[in-house]
Amino acid sequence: MSRILVTGGAGFIGSHLCELFLERGHNVVCMDNLCTGSADNIAHLIGNQEFKFIHHDVTNYIYVPGTLDAILHFASPASPVDYLELPIQTLKVGSLGTHNALGLAKAKNARFLLASTSEVYGDPLVHPQPEEYWGNVNPIGVRGVYDEAKRFGEAIAMAYHRVHGVQTRIVRIFNTYGPRMRPNDGRVLPNFVRQALMGEPLTVYGDGSQTRSFCYVSDLIEGIHSLLFSEEVGPVNIGNPDEVSILEFAHEVNQMCGSDSPLIYKELPTDDPKTRQPDISRARSILAWEPKVGRHEGLQTTVRYFRELLGCP
Ligand code: UDP
Repeated sequence: MSRILVTGGAGFIGSHLCELFLERGHNVVCMDNLCTGSADNIAHLIGNQEFKFIHHDVTNYIYVPGTLDAILHFASPASPVDYLELPIQTLKVGSLGTHNALGLAKAKNARFLLASTSEVYGDPLVHPQPEEYWGNVNPIGVRGVYDEAKRFGEAIAMAYHRVHGVQTRIVRIFNTYGPRMRPNDGRVLPNFVRQALMGEPLTVYGDGSQTRSFCYVSDLIEGIHSLLFSEEVGPVNIGNPDEVSILEFAHEVNQMCGSDSPLIYKELPTDDPKTRQPDISRARSILAWEPKVGRHEGLQTTVRYFRELLGCP
């Protein structure tokens, strides 16, 4: 058994990771400032002898007593709505927070895994996106606060690896969904599902021709688990390559919710990527990983979760 720190452990993905590592026999320290994460996501883990929660903002010096074998750095606002509302916190957690977490990894001789993102590819000019692609990011645009913070995170992780020999891993996470997403976090899936369940119009931004590829959370965390225990230092895309236009997706959600909500069109947010699909050849060959949960099945489970959460019949 080893002892693992998950920063952002009370968030959507972080809380699923805490659970997975507990299930696989590890001791888990979850750290979160509950800025976009929620204590509800980890309430069921409190009381487990192998689980500890520390309420802390990782942009400040991180103190964790005892040994640590691995650090998974997942703390950050991650929904475009959140990081547009919290631009400085997003930049600080991606830069100062990553620096602190790497310093801790070095001090504890722990393996370090960075939650990076498909946003490092910006509005991509290469499709689908392989890890070799350097991206097309607007550094001074409103989304730059997230994209550049994550790009900086990758750069400093590689520097700690090269200079200090820290065992670093980088996962580039593509759009992920599932239970524990906040219904009001502003991302397309919670928006559409909430709107469809409440009988409200679905808000399609732009003409809906932009595409995304949605990965179910259980697939994502399996990929992250494999990456942590692999020897791969370079970035690895983890996502589901099944690409869909936002317009098509709106119809799918309506159908899944048994709703006939109308679609209304709103302005496309600045620098919104037009296409996105992970090239997962590297994950397939190095980790023998690929997603197992299709959108129909994943959506079914997620809609059930939101239905209960929102108290819809
Ligand atoms: N989007 C939409 N309606 C919404 C929320 C989002 O049409 O109510 C679009 C958004 O413009 C983007 C896509 O859905 O093209 C995915 O947006 P999301 O916020 O989920 O995350 P992103 O992939 O842009 O990081």
